[in-house]
Amino acid sequence: TAPPTKRYSITLLPGDGIGPEVIAVAKNVLKLAGSLEGIEFAFQEMPMGGSALDLVGVPLPEETLAAAKQSDAVLLGAIGGYKWDKNEKHLKPETGLLQIREGLKVFANLRPATVLPQLVDSSTLKKEVAEGVDLMVVRELTGGIYFGKPRGYGVTEHGEEIGFNTEVYAAYEVDRIARVAFETARKRHGKLCSVDKANVLEASMFWRKRITAIASEYPDVELSHMYVDNAAMQLIRNPKQFDTIVTNNIFGDILSDEASMITGSIGMLPSASLGESGPGLFEPIHGSAPDIAGQDKANPLATILSAAMLLKYGLGEEHAAKRIEKAVLDTLDKGLRTGDIYSAGTKLVGCQEMGEEVLKSVETQV
Ligand code: ATP
Ligand code: MG
Repeated sequence: TAPPTKRYSITLLPGDGIGPEVIAVAKNVLKLAGSLEGIEFAFQEMPMGGSALDLVGVPLPEETLAAAKQSDAVLLGAIGGYKWDKNEKHLKPETGLLQIREGLKVFANLRPATVLPQLVDSSTLKKEVAEGVDLMVVRELTGGIYFGKPRGYGVTEHGEEIGFNTEVYAAYEVDRIARVAFETARKRHGKLCSVDKANVLEASMFWRKRITAIASEYPDVELSHMYVDNAAMQLIRNPKQFDTIVTNNIFGDILSDEASMITGSIGMLPSASLGESGPGLFEPIHGSAPDIAGQDKANPLATILSAAMLLKYGLGEEHAAKRIEKAVLDTLDKGLRTGDIYSAGTKLVGCQEMGEEVLKSVETQV
């Protein structure tokens, strides 16, 4: 007998540029993988970004945020484009992105950097260093020096102009990102490296103290600590040593970009942003790529893999997630490549065809 059907509601935010193209493909993949696993999705598509600006004058309409909040997970394409680049700050598509992160209170940003065997030559590192890299950066997203007060400009008592920011972390902020990171490490290979600058900064010393305290709840996860300068170096020297990395907002900003370059294929990389409860936000790390929009050239795999993260980290549907991940690998094994990952001897396909091949493969996974 068939298992009982589980139902989830998903808000789709196609956005701008290649966003609608990659979301259309990922939606079909999600739908099929779900139906093969006894899962039924109710999709609701809402405007956001530049397209919302053109439609109703704001980058994140209230109805869009309300729909997102009420759903079980949110899948976002990409937003922005040349057309709105000269807009004032509050009328920029990117402002909508900050607003939805804030609205959903997603404080944990998960960015995997995996060097797939089929794409090892895309890496900016030497083959022997890049081969087998499979790491995840868990970045604190809503606290730290980007938000701490006091901040601003001033003048010293000697009349010297200054600019200043403050790094503040409350215990609850470190504890909750720590728990997400330990849970993530548990779902991966059981190793967590916390990155800080505890030899210099009090906020980092506090960070290390709280991470160490939370570690007692996760005796099965192996915890280590590393200073950020060393971590930046180790990511290039020997990235294979890492499984899961947890770090603060600013270090995570830098290290996650560094880690993505190890893989070298922007069209392949997904991300997840998670809150305490409530829906997570899942999106490819690439932008709206206006240079190739509307030409069926976009690589949909980053968004398809974001849909897999949605299943795994957003809904706890690990088996359905695995089905999608395996289908992506299988499709690459068949030699199919979009332009961004093309190399001699492989077959160049468009966004749609890549999507159709992944669908076929989703069907045959067990
Ligand atoms: P943003 O500011 O939104 O991040 P950006 O211009 O900095 O935008 P992208 O939009 O990611 O960065 O584009 C950078 C380059 O990578 C462009 O040449 C684009 O065509 C290419 N690119 C990005 N995403 C993809 C994709 N999914 N498939 C193929 N090429 C892509
Ligand atoms: Mg950019």
